[in-house]
Amino acid sequence: MRPPAVPSRAALGRFVTVATLHVALACARPLPAPRPPAVAPSPPPPASAGEPRSPGAPASSEPSAAEVHPGADPAAAGSAEDGASAAEQLEPAASAGPPPPFRAPLPGPDLPRAAPARRIADLSPAACRAELARSGLPVERDRRPTPGVATATRVTGPFHGVRLVVPPRSSPYGVLDCRLALALGELAALLAEHGVVAVRIDNTYRPRSRLPGSRRPSQHNYALAADVTAITLADGRTLEIERDWPAAIGTPACGPEAELGSDTPEALELRNLVCAIVARQLFHHVLTPNYDVAHRNHLHLDLQRDNARGNIR
Ligand SMILES: [Zn+2]
Repeated sequence: MRPPAVPSRAALGRFVTVATLHVALACARPLPAPRPPAVAPSPPPPASAGEPRSPGAPASSEPSAAEVHPGADPAAAGSAEDGASAAEQLEPAASAGPPPPFRAPLPGPDLPRAAPARRIADLSPAACRAELARSGLPVERDRRPTPGVATATRVTGPFHGVRLVVPPRSSPYGVLDCRLALALGELAALLAEHGVVAVRIDNTYRPRSRLPGSRRPSQHNYALAADVTAITLADGRTLEIERDWPAAIGTPACGPEAELGSDTPEALELRNLVCAIVARQLFHHVLTPNYDVAHRNHLHLDLQRDNARGNIR
């Protein structure tokens, strides 16, 4: 395990400017505080999906939850801060400040029974349909043949004010199982707190998809996975996974040892968002560009029934 790197002074300085108010919270708990609302006028969010889509990268391999979870490591976080303090003696203005939210320790891989991912994934079809009806989320049933899917639904409007840009009804790739719809509702509520207005999802359902090099089905086979390619903020900026997350395959995505690999504000904001999603335990598996080259351009988020562990890679 290599020692935690000290954040660059530029990155720390930028963080101080955007998150001064969150100093106490960032160290005390894994979830980043919401960003202030953006103000700049800007281009509109991405156009509605209409064109045919490639299903993106091959289905995720199904990670074993025991691996690579950044986990909690307060000692490492302390070391990072110690390093910053040492630098601060030379240039206090440039180096002071807490670690950015994406470096906060994450919960471990064990998912409590009440974690959203586990609670939702284990719902029966009938229980899910009842909860979805109560949620008021704008979805409709899709009663066309969707092999492998327990309850096929389609997005018909914004979730908690967040537009989900998904494949059109003419495409099979936009089918969501009822449970994925509920999880995306939780995701949208979280992202709305952070000033997100749209999420672009390349695909959710890929019939008969298999894990790479395996006969085992991908969670896309059940319409229980979403491949997110971009996130649009209220100020009009779009965080593109491929552009704003330089892949560093095999390295931690979140936690005290995570590195951005970029000095842009977009890279920092994207990483903070993704690590907030992970901290909230909304999905079983979160695969990022740091996982493998097939995920260089999207985040894979999935649910899995009867699984008490989750991870991010
Ligand atoms: Zn995927």
